[in-house]
Amino acid sequence: MAAETQRNKCAACFKQFNKLEHLVDHMRISYHSVHEPMCGICKKHCRSFESLREHLIGPLPKPECKDIFTIRGCKFCLAILDSPNARWFHQDRCQFSNVKTGLLGRLANLGIRDNLNIGNGGARGPLAVALACKMVGGGSDGSLDLCARVCIIDENENIMFHTYVKPTIPVTNYRYETTGIRPEYLRDAMPQKLVQKKIQDFLCNGEPMWKIRPRGGKARTLVGHGLDHDLDRLQIEYPAGMIRDTAKYPPLMKTSKLSNSLKYLTQAYLGYDIQNGIQDPYEDCVATMRLYMRMRSQMHHIENYPLASDPQNRNNFASWRQSELERMTPGQMLEISRSDYYCWCLDSRG
Ligand SMILES: [Zn+2]
Ligand SMILES: [Zn+2]
Ligand SMILES: [Zn+2]
Ligand SMILES: [Zn+2]
Repeated sequence: MAAETQRNKCAACFKQFNKLEHLVDHMRISYHSVHEPMCGICKKHCRSFESLREHLIGPLPKPECKDIFTIRGCKFCLAILDSPNARWFHQDRCQFSNVKTGLLGRLANLGIRDNLNIGNGGARGPLAVALACKMVGGGSDGSLDLCARVCIIDENENIMFHTYVKPTIPVTNYRYETTGIRPEYLRDAMPQKLVQKKIQDFLCNGEPMWKIRPRGGKARTLVGHGLDHDLDRLQIEYPAGMIRDTAKYPPLMKTSKLSNSLKYLTQAYLGYDIQNGIQDPYEDCVATMRLYMRMRSQMHHIENYPLASDPQNRNNFASWRQSELERMTPGQMLEISRSDYYCWCLDSRG
Protein backbone atom coordinates (compact mmCIF):
# COMPACT_ATOMS: atom_id res chain seq x y z
CA MET A 1 0.00 0.00 0.00
CA ALA A 2 2.79 2.42 0.95
CA ALA A 3 4.70 1.55 -2.23
CA GLU A 4 1.59 2.27 -4.28
CA THR A 5 1.24 5.80 -2.84
CA GLN A 6 4.97 6.36 -3.41
CA ARG A 7 4.40 5.48 -7.06
CA ASN A 8 1.72 8.16 -7.30
CA LYS A 9 3.73 10.87 -5.63
CA CYS A 10 4.83 13.90 -7.64
CA ALA A 11 8.64 13.90 -7.85
CA ALA A 12 8.69 17.71 -7.71
CA CYS A 13 6.12 18.98 -5.19
CA PHE A 14 5.63 15.63 -3.36
CA LYS A 15 1.85 15.78 -3.66
CA GLN A 16 0.29 12.30 -3.38
CA PHE A 17 -2.42 10.93 -5.62
CA ASN A 18 -4.69 7.91 -5.20
CA LYS A 19 -4.50 7.05 -8.85
CA LEU A 20 -1.61 7.25 -11.29
CA GLU A 21 -3.80 8.94 -13.88
CA HIS A 22 -4.34 11.80 -11.44
CA LEU A 23 -0.59 12.26 -11.11
CA VAL A 24 -0.36 12.41 -14.91
CA ASP A 25 -3.14 15.04 -14.92
CA HIS A 26 -1.22 16.97 -12.28
CA MET A 27 2.03 16.87 -14.26
CA ARG A 28 0.18 18.06 -17.35
CA ILE A 29 -0.82 21.34 -15.71
CA SER A 30 1.91 21.96 -13.11
CA TYR A 31 4.87 22.76 -15.41
CA HIS A 32 7.41 21.60 -12.83
CA SER A 33 10.99 22.12 -13.93
CA VAL A 34 14.60 22.47 -12.81
CA HIS A 35 14.01 26.24 -12.80
CA GLU A 36 11.63 26.21 -9.84
CA PRO A 37 13.00 27.30 -6.45
CA MET A 38 13.98 24.08 -4.66
CA CYS A 39 14.60 23.09 -1.05
CA GLY A 40 18.31 22.31 -0.67
CA ILE A 41 17.51 19.58 1.85
CA CYS A 42 14.52 17.48 0.73
CA LYS A 43 14.67 18.73 -2.93
CA LYS A 44 11.02 19.73 -2.94
CA HIS A 45 10.17 22.12 -5.80
CA CYS A 46 8.25 25.28 -4.92
CA ARG A 47 6.40 27.64 -7.19
CA SER A 48 8.06 30.72 -5.70
CA PHE A 49 10.78 31.69 -3.24
CA GLU A 50 7.99 32.78 -0.95
CA SER A 51 6.58 29.25 -0.76
CA LEU A 52 10.12 27.90 -0.30
CA ARG A 53 10.54 30.39 2.54
CA GLU A 54 7.33 29.08 4.12
CA HIS A 55 8.65 25.53 3.74
CA LEU A 56 11.98 26.40 5.44
CA ILE A 57 11.10 29.12 7.92
CA GLY A 58 7.33 29.05 8.37
CA PRO A 59 4.58 29.50 9.22
CA LEU A 60 4.15 25.70 9.18
CA PRO A 61 7.64 24.73 7.98
CA LYS A 62 8.70 21.13 7.38
CA PRO A 63 10.45 20.39 10.73
CA GLU A 64 13.35 18.30 9.31
CA CYS A 65 14.20 20.99 6.74
CA LYS A 66 13.71 23.86 9.18
CA ASP A 67 16.16 22.32 11.67
CA ILE A 68 18.95 22.14 9.10
CA PHE A 69 18.09 25.51 7.57
CA THR A 70 18.34 27.19 10.97
CA ILE A 71 21.91 25.98 11.34
CA ARG A 72 23.32 26.45 7.84
CA GLY A 73 20.76 28.13 5.57
CA CYS A 74 21.11 31.62 4.05
CA LYS A 75 18.10 33.71 5.03
CA PHE A 76 18.39 35.86 1.89
CA CYS A 77 18.81 33.47 -1.05
CA LEU A 78 17.58 30.41 0.94
CA ALA A 79 20.58 28.28 -0.11
CA ILE A 80 21.89 25.57 2.22
CA LEU A 81 25.61 25.82 2.95
CA ASP A 82 27.98 23.02 4.00
CA SER A 83 28.61 24.27 7.52
CA PRO A 84 27.54 27.03 9.90
CA ASN A 85 30.88 28.69 9.18
CA ALA A 86 30.37 28.60 5.42
CA ARG A 87 26.91 30.05 6.02
CA TRP A 88 28.40 32.92 7.94
CA PHE A 89 30.75 33.89 5.10
CA HIS A 90 28.14 33.34 2.43
CA GLN A 91 25.42 35.33 4.13
CA ASP A 92 27.74 38.25 4.66
CA ARG A 93 28.27 38.47 0.90
CA CYS A 94 24.66 37.68 0.07
CA GLN A 95 23.41 40.72 1.97
CA PHE A 96 23.68 44.08 0.24
CA SER A 97 23.62 47.49 1.83
CA ASN A 98 21.77 50.53 0.63
CA VAL A 99 23.23 52.93 -1.90
CA LYS A 100 23.84 56.54 -0.98
CA THR A 101 21.41 58.70 -2.87
CA GLY A 102 21.76 62.04 -1.12
CA LEU A 103 24.62 63.35 -3.26
CA LEU A 104 23.03 61.99 -6.42
CA GLY A 105 19.84 63.79 -5.61
CA ARG A 106 21.70 67.07 -5.29
CA LEU A 107 23.56 66.47 -8.55
CA ALA A 108 20.31 65.75 -10.29
CA ASN A 109 18.96 69.07 -9.05
CA LEU A 110 21.84 70.89 -10.69
CA GLY A 111 21.54 69.19 -14.00
CA ILE A 112 21.04 65.88 -15.66
CA ARG A 113 23.25 62.90 -16.10
CA ASP A 114 23.00 61.78 -19.70
CA ASN A 115 25.26 59.03 -20.96
CA LEU A 116 22.80 57.36 -23.28
CA ASN A 117 24.98 56.17 -26.11
CA ILE A 118 24.14 53.86 -28.92
CA GLY A 119 26.91 51.32 -29.05
CA ASN A 120 27.94 47.72 -29.06
CA GLY A 121 26.57 45.38 -26.48
CA GLY A 122 29.06 43.28 -24.57
CA ALA A 123 30.55 40.10 -25.95
CA ARG A 124 28.21 38.11 -23.74
CA GLY A 125 25.02 39.06 -25.55
CA PRO A 126 22.74 41.97 -24.83
CA LEU A 127 23.57 44.00 -21.77
CA ALA A 128 20.87 44.62 -19.24
CA VAL A 129 19.90 48.06 -18.01
CA ALA A 130 17.46 48.92 -15.23
CA LEU A 131 14.92 51.72 -15.41
CA ALA A 132 12.82 53.33 -12.69
CA CYS A 133 10.58 56.40 -12.50
CA LYS A 134 9.07 58.59 -9.84
CA MET A 135 5.61 59.90 -10.48
CA VAL A 136 3.86 63.12 -9.53
CA GLY A 137 0.08 63.64 -9.76
CA GLY A 138 -1.98 65.17 -12.55
CA GLY A 139 -5.69 65.56 -13.22
CA SER A 140 -8.25 67.37 -11.07
CA ASP A 141 -7.69 65.13 -8.02
CA GLY A 142 -3.96 64.58 -8.56
CA SER A 143 -4.38 60.82 -8.90
CA LEU A 144 -3.12 60.53 -12.48
CA ASP A 145 0.52 59.36 -12.48
CA LEU A 146 2.89 61.57 -14.45
CA CYS A 147 6.55 60.66 -14.76
CA ALA A 148 8.63 63.45 -13.23
CA ARG A 149 11.94 61.68 -12.71
CA VAL A 150 13.62 58.80 -14.45
CA CYS A 151 16.85 56.91 -13.95
CA ILE A 152 18.64 54.23 -15.97
CA ILE A 153 21.65 52.25 -14.74
CA ASP A 154 23.85 49.55 -16.25
CA GLU A 155 24.72 46.13 -14.81
CA ASN A 156 27.46 47.68 -12.66
CA GLU A 157 25.06 50.19 -11.10
CA ASN A 158 26.59 53.08 -13.07
CA ILE A 159 24.13 55.84 -13.91
CA MET A 160 23.46 56.08 -17.62
CA PHE A 161 20.65 58.60 -17.35
CA HIS A 162 19.13 60.52 -14.47
CA THR A 163 16.86 63.47 -15.02
CA TYR A 164 13.75 65.37 -14.08
CA VAL A 165 11.03 65.18 -16.68
CA LYS A 166 8.61 67.94 -17.62
CA PRO A 167 5.19 66.30 -17.97
CA THR A 168 2.97 67.14 -20.93
CA ILE A 169 0.03 68.18 -18.73
CA PRO A 170 -0.05 70.34 -15.57
CA VAL A 171 1.06 68.82 -12.28
CA THR A 172 -1.63 69.12 -9.60
CA ASN A 173 0.15 67.21 -6.80
CA TYR A 174 3.91 67.09 -6.44
CA ARG A 175 3.67 64.33 -3.78
CA TYR A 176 6.57 66.08 -2.08
CA GLU A 177 6.79 63.75 0.96
CA THR A 178 7.88 60.83 -1.24
CA THR A 179 9.19 62.49 -4.41
CA GLY A 180 10.99 65.50 -2.92
CA ILE A 181 10.07 67.30 -6.13
CA ARG A 182 9.37 71.06 -6.12
CA PRO A 183 7.73 72.98 -8.99
CA GLU A 184 11.00 74.72 -9.89
CA TYR A 185 12.72 71.34 -10.53
CA LEU A 186 10.31 70.62 -13.37
CA ARG A 187 9.98 74.11 -14.83
CA ASP A 188 12.98 73.77 -17.15
CA ALA A 189 13.29 69.98 -17.02
CA MET A 190 13.76 67.81 -20.09
CA PRO A 191 10.44 67.60 -22.01
CA GLN A 192 8.79 64.20 -21.83
CA LYS A 193 8.84 63.76 -25.61
CA LEU A 194 12.61 64.14 -25.66
CA VAL A 195 13.05 61.77 -22.71
CA GLN A 196 10.88 59.22 -24.47
CA LYS A 197 12.90 59.41 -27.68
CA LYS A 198 16.26 59.24 -25.93
CA ILE A 199 15.29 56.18 -23.88
CA GLN A 200 13.60 54.45 -26.80
CA ASP A 201 16.71 54.89 -28.98
CA PHE A 202 18.99 53.80 -26.17
CA LEU A 203 17.03 50.58 -25.54
CA CYS A 204 16.74 49.61 -29.21
CA ASN A 205 20.42 50.50 -29.62
CA GLY A 206 20.30 51.00 -33.36
CA GLU A 207 18.03 48.09 -34.04
CA PRO A 208 14.59 48.64 -35.65
CA MET A 209 11.81 47.65 -33.23
CA TRP A 210 10.35 44.97 -35.53
CA LYS A 211 13.75 43.26 -35.80
CA ILE A 212 14.41 42.97 -32.08
CA ARG A 213 14.91 39.38 -30.95
CA PRO A 214 15.66 38.24 -27.40
CA ARG A 215 18.91 36.69 -28.56
CA GLY A 216 21.78 37.75 -30.73
CA GLY A 217 20.74 41.37 -31.27
CA LYS A 218 22.08 44.68 -30.04
CA ALA A 219 18.89 45.80 -28.25
CA ARG A 220 19.17 45.94 -24.49
CA THR A 221 17.46 43.78 -21.92
CA LEU A 222 15.28 46.05 -19.76
CA VAL A 223 15.03 45.37 -16.02
CA GLY A 224 12.55 47.05 -13.67
CA HIS A 225 9.68 46.67 -11.25
CA GLY A 226 6.17 47.17 -12.68
CA LEU A 227 7.62 48.26 -16.02
CA ASP A 228 4.26 48.20 -17.82
CA HIS A 229 3.23 51.26 -15.85
CA ASP A 230 6.56 53.08 -16.22
CA LEU A 231 6.68 52.47 -19.98
CA ASP A 232 3.04 53.43 -20.37
CA ARG A 233 3.62 56.76 -18.57
CA LEU A 234 6.73 57.43 -20.67
CA GLN A 235 4.89 56.29 -23.82
CA ILE A 236 7.68 53.88 -24.66
CA GLU A 237 7.03 50.62 -26.46
CA TYR A 238 9.34 47.69 -26.01
CA PRO A 239 9.02 43.98 -26.89
CA ALA A 240 7.91 41.78 -23.97
CA GLY A 241 10.70 39.30 -24.72
CA MET A 242 13.28 41.94 -23.78
CA ILE A 243 11.69 42.82 -20.43
CA ARG A 244 12.66 41.35 -17.05
CA ASP A 245 10.13 42.59 -14.50
CA THR A 246 10.71 41.75 -10.83
CA ALA A 247 6.98 42.34 -10.21
CA LYS A 248 6.03 39.64 -12.71
CA TYR A 249 8.74 36.98 -12.43
CA PRO A 250 6.93 33.92 -10.97
CA PRO A 251 9.72 32.92 -8.51
CA LEU A 252 9.57 36.41 -6.97
CA MET A 253 5.77 36.59 -6.75
CA LYS A 254 3.52 35.78 -3.82
CA THR A 255 2.09 32.30 -3.38
CA SER A 256 -1.23 33.95 -4.28
CA LYS A 257 0.34 34.92 -7.66
CA LEU A 258 0.16 38.62 -6.84
CA SER A 259 3.22 40.87 -7.14
CA ASN A 260 5.41 41.66 -4.18
CA SER A 261 6.42 45.27 -3.62
CA LEU A 262 9.99 46.21 -4.51
CA LYS A 263 10.43 47.33 -0.92
CA TYR A 264 9.53 43.84 0.34
CA LEU A 265 11.70 42.02 -2.23
CA THR A 266 14.70 44.18 -1.36
CA GLN A 267 14.25 43.57 2.34
CA ALA A 268 13.69 39.81 1.99
CA TYR A 269 16.20 38.87 -0.72
CA LEU A 270 18.86 41.59 -0.54
CA GLY A 271 18.65 42.37 3.17
CA TYR A 272 18.27 46.15 3.24
CA ASP A 273 15.63 48.83 3.40
CA ILE A 274 14.55 51.13 0.57
CA GLN A 275 11.90 53.78 -0.14
CA ASN A 276 11.96 55.52 3.18
CA GLY A 277 11.07 59.20 3.05
CA ILE A 278 12.04 60.94 -0.17
CA GLN A 279 12.69 58.38 -2.88
CA ASP A 280 15.30 58.45 -5.61
CA PRO A 281 14.65 56.31 -8.71
CA TYR A 282 18.35 55.35 -8.63
CA GLU A 283 17.69 53.38 -5.46
CA ASP A 284 14.90 51.43 -7.20
CA CYS A 285 17.10 50.82 -10.25
CA VAL A 286 19.85 49.35 -8.08
CA ALA A 287 17.46 47.10 -6.16
CA THR A 288 15.83 45.69 -9.31
CA MET A 289 19.21 45.20 -10.98
CA ARG A 290 20.55 43.33 -7.95
CA LEU A 291 17.46 41.11 -7.87
CA TYR A 292 17.82 40.45 -11.59
CA MET A 293 21.53 39.59 -11.28
CA ARG A 294 20.80 37.23 -8.41
CA MET A 295 18.10 35.43 -10.38
CA ARG A 296 20.27 35.35 -13.49
CA SER A 297 23.14 33.75 -11.58
CA GLN A 298 21.04 30.74 -10.47
CA MET A 299 22.75 27.51 -11.46
CA HIS A 300 20.12 25.33 -13.11
CA HIS A 301 20.57 22.24 -15.21
CA ILE A 302 20.92 23.13 -18.91
CA GLU A 303 18.20 21.83 -21.22
CA ASN A 304 18.13 22.20 -24.99
CA TYR A 305 14.48 23.25 -24.99
CA PRO A 306 13.68 24.73 -21.58
CA LEU A 307 10.16 25.99 -22.20
CA ALA A 308 6.90 24.04 -22.25
CA SER A 309 5.93 26.30 -25.17
CA ASP A 310 8.93 25.20 -27.27
CA PRO A 311 7.55 23.18 -30.21
CA GLN A 312 9.82 20.27 -29.23
CA ASN A 313 7.92 19.93 -25.94
CA ARG A 314 4.40 20.30 -27.25
CA ASN A 315 3.57 16.59 -27.02
CA ASN A 316 5.35 15.77 -23.76
CA PHE A 317 2.07 15.36 -21.90
CA ALA A 318 -0.33 15.00 -24.82
CA SER A 319 -3.49 13.10 -23.97
CA TRP A 320 -2.80 10.50 -26.67
CA ARG A 321 0.30 9.54 -24.70
CA GLN A 322 -1.73 8.81 -21.54
CA SER A 323 -1.00 5.08 -21.32
CA GLU A 324 2.69 5.63 -22.08
CA LEU A 325 2.83 8.32 -19.36
CA GLU A 326 1.14 6.01 -16.86
CA ARG A 327 3.97 3.53 -17.31
CA MET A 328 6.59 6.14 -16.38
CA THR A 329 7.98 6.69 -12.91
CA PRO A 330 7.29 10.09 -11.28
CA GLY A 331 10.98 10.92 -11.82
CA GLN A 332 10.77 10.18 -15.54
CA MET A 333 7.70 12.38 -15.83
CA LEU A 334 9.53 15.23 -14.09
CA GLU A 335 12.40 14.82 -16.55
CA ILE A 336 10.17 15.62 -19.52
CA SER A 337 8.28 18.38 -17.72
CA ARG A 338 9.19 21.94 -18.73
CA SER A 339 8.72 25.43 -17.32
CA ASP A 340 5.83 27.68 -18.34
CA TYR A 341 7.90 30.82 -17.69
CA TYR A 342 11.27 32.04 -18.96
CA CYS A 343 13.80 31.55 -16.18
CA TRP A 344 16.33 34.39 -15.99
CA CYS A 345 19.20 31.92 -15.58
CA LEU A 346 18.79 31.45 -19.34
CA ASP A 347 20.08 35.01 -19.88
CA SER A 348 23.50 33.95 -18.65
CA ARG A 349 23.81 31.46 -21.49
CA GLY A 350 24.31 34.15 -24.16
ZN1 LIG B 1 3.80 18.38 -8.33
ZN1 LIG C 1 16.68 28.59 -14.38
ZN1 LIG D 1 12.70 20.61 2.33
ZN1 LIG E 1 22.55 33.58 0.20
